[in-house]
Amino acid sequence: MRKSIIGGNWKMNKTSKEVEELVKGLIQELGDYKEVDTVIFPPFIYLERVGSLLKGTSIALGAQNMFWEEKGAYTGEVSPLMLVDVGCRYVILGHSERRQHFGETDNWINRKIKTALRFGLTPVLCVGERLEERKSGRAEEIVSSQLKGCLSGINPSQVEKIVIAYEPVWAIGTGETATPHQAQQMHRFIRENLQEMFGESVANSVRIQYGGSVKPDNIKQLMQQQDVDGALVGGASLSAASFVKIVKYGEN
Ligand code: PEP
Repeated sequence: MRKSIIGGNWKMNKTSKEVEELVKGLIQELGDYKEVDTVIFPPFIYLERVGSLLKGTSIALGAQNMFWEEKGAYTGEVSPLMLVDVGCRYVILGHSERRQHFGETDNWINRKIKTALRFGLTPVLCVGERLEERKSGRAEEIVSSQLKGCLSGINPSQVEKIVIAYEPVWAIGTGETATPHQAQQMHRFIRENLQEMFGESVANSVRIQYGGSVKPDNIKQLMQQQDVDGALVGGASLSAASFVKIVKYGEN
């Protein structure tokens, strides 16, 4: 049985006052909620504060990115050691916005995953095709090559610890969601790839989240799909009311 996992990726949003309000709202509703694993991913600058607010609650803390070295002359970067130090347990790696705007490659992401694992952080590896790639029938080819590149050289027992987020780029922040059927098909395909690379038991235990315009009114149908084990939520995680409804999808 794979426990569902729902993450809120705040991206580059919120001021410190808004962060306090949002976190307090989330703790009120989700602080003791254990039906699903809940993770929030605030911007780096708020991690320490949010980490201290979340202490003793069932909401986990994650970062939106990190560098692959532990320390050194890497101006502007944040290391896994620092993330662990402020209480992070998860880190998003390979988000399409980082691939698109910051030139991240599968090879970089692979290095980051290996370091994150070494530090005991759970990587949330994002994969997904762009619109033109889907339209030209190359969605599976793209996702498969991202998986192979990003997971190269990682052993099966480590892969079991990774969460994968399938995020079709055309559905991120656009209001356009993959249909539950499209999501299920790609999640199935990802699991088959994992099986080929790491064996059946690893493939069956890895949790695969869907991401791309997830909202309170579409989460339930997505979660009903056999291979959808959770969601990575952007825009709708910026309000406590909507994120709480998404996390508590099973109660509505
Ligand atoms: C994301 O950035 O991971 C995401 C899925 O964003 P949104 O929910 O806004 O589409």
